[in-house]
Amino acid sequence: MALIVQKFGGTSVADLDRIAAAAVKVKQEVERGNQVAVVVSAMAGVTNELVELTRKVSPLHDAREYDVVVSTGEQVTSGLMAMCLQAQGIAARSWLGWQIPVHTDDAHGRARILDIESAELIRRLGDRQVAVVPGFQGLGSDHRMTTLGRGGSDITAVALAAALKAQRCDIYTDVDGVFTADPRIVAGARRLAKITYEEMLELASLGAKVLQTRSVELAMKHNVRLQVLSSFNEAIGSDTPGTLVLGDEEIMEQEMVSGVTYSRDDAKVTLIGVADRPGVAAATFGTLADAAINVDMIVQNIAEDGRSTDITFTVANDDLARTVELLTALQEQLGFARLVPDRNVVKVSVIGVGMRSHAGIAQRMFQTLGDRGINIQVISTSEIKISVLIAEEFAELAVRALHAAYGLDKE
Ligand code: ASP
Ligand code: MG
Repeated sequence: MALIVQKFGGTSVADLDRIAAAAVKVKQEVERGNQVAVVVSAMAGVTNELVELTRKVSPLHDAREYDVVVSTGEQVTSGLMAMCLQAQGIAARSWLGWQIPVHTDDAHGRARILDIESAELIRRLGDRQVAVVPGFQGLGSDHRMTTLGRGGSDITAVALAAALKAQRCDIYTDVDGVFTADPRIVAGARRLAKITYEEMLELASLGAKVLQTRSVELAMKHNVRLQVLSSFNEAIGSDTPGTLVLGDEEIMEQEMVSGVTYSRDDAKVTLIGVADRPGVAAATFGTLADAAINVDMIVQNIAEDGRSTDITFTVANDDLARTVELLTALQEQLGFARLVPDRNVVKVSVIGVGMRSHAGIAQRMFQTLGDRGINIQVISTSEIKISVLIAEEFAELAVRALHAAYGLDKE
């Protein structure tokens, strides 16, 4: 007997038929003799509608009331899921975020889970009752409803699995698992049977939308065995796995590269003719940090003439307008000649823990792009990933070419 957390995303609970189909997956797990806690998202599209309502009232609304509104989508699906399970003869009840409680901090709209009180849940699970928990919801230390940020149901699922010491956390979604590249772009993309937490973390933060980034961080920290699988495939269940996400000690033979991903969410900013003196970079990026603008890639060369140089960096598309505004206001103080913003860029990344032990991976990336006449504008690397910034029109060509170059295409 095992304790399993099953999480169903928005498309997996999009309507009553989908909820009933998800309930069948829960029932199968119960019939295997397992204890099951179910975490549900809101029905697909519902959270967007709720967010829209709050915006219409006022763009500057009270974040505590925002949470009261947007947390309701998950409340609806929790009740419906519990009813569906009961209709299928399974003992079940819903447990809202404040009833458990899922304690969070007070950062309304993007709260962090501090602790989940699990004793009563564990007792009920032991009595063979399925617990249905709305994702995304928490109870702040101000004793008010909180939400965890968009996509936060994955975080609830992983945190609950950690609190309950579950054997596994199954994330049901609308794709069959984690792929070597986006299958809509690369025909030869393959489902990965296993991937490490670190790789999944890079994939999630570099554009793959399958898991929320913070949920992967949490799974890695607490060693929660994650499995990503489709609720749309009747044949797929916990015994015919999607993709397992686990520690690298559990993966014997590492691929050099596990996946190629891309993101159109970045914009490039170039400061031309920046004074080459100490403190300029600190002032530039300090200004952005103070405004909570995240800078990702940065390149700066030394000034050949000893006087001025260029600095190029990337920020999220959403932050571009504010970045331009803030830095333009400081133009004189920072002493640059011109600021050139550019949204026409895409970040393409190759990821693999095997990079630690194989040479020549970056070289192959540069060669592959060079052979296709694709110019690389910015490069950044970590131990297990290489990212390049290129012109947006080459995104698909680059992803396909790299997928083939690293031998990832299916035979
Ligand atoms: N319903 C929330 C959202 O759409 C949380 C989630 O589904 O993960 O962001
Ligand atoms: Mg999601």
